[in-house]
Amino acid sequence: MLTNVVDFFKNLPAKKCSKCGEKIEEQHECYGNHCENCLNTYKG
Ligand SMILES: [Zn+2]
Repeated sequence: MLTNVVDFFKNLPAKKCSKCGEKIEEQHECYGNHCENCLNTYKG
């Protein structure tokens, strides 16, 4: 059920950047294990 799916994601631990430990927003999940800050560094 839809409610169970929401509860499942609510219970997930917050994702953290593997480089600086910054909390990663869910919408950035597709980028991997780095926060936006570190991603910008990689791009440069
Ligand atoms: Zn970072």
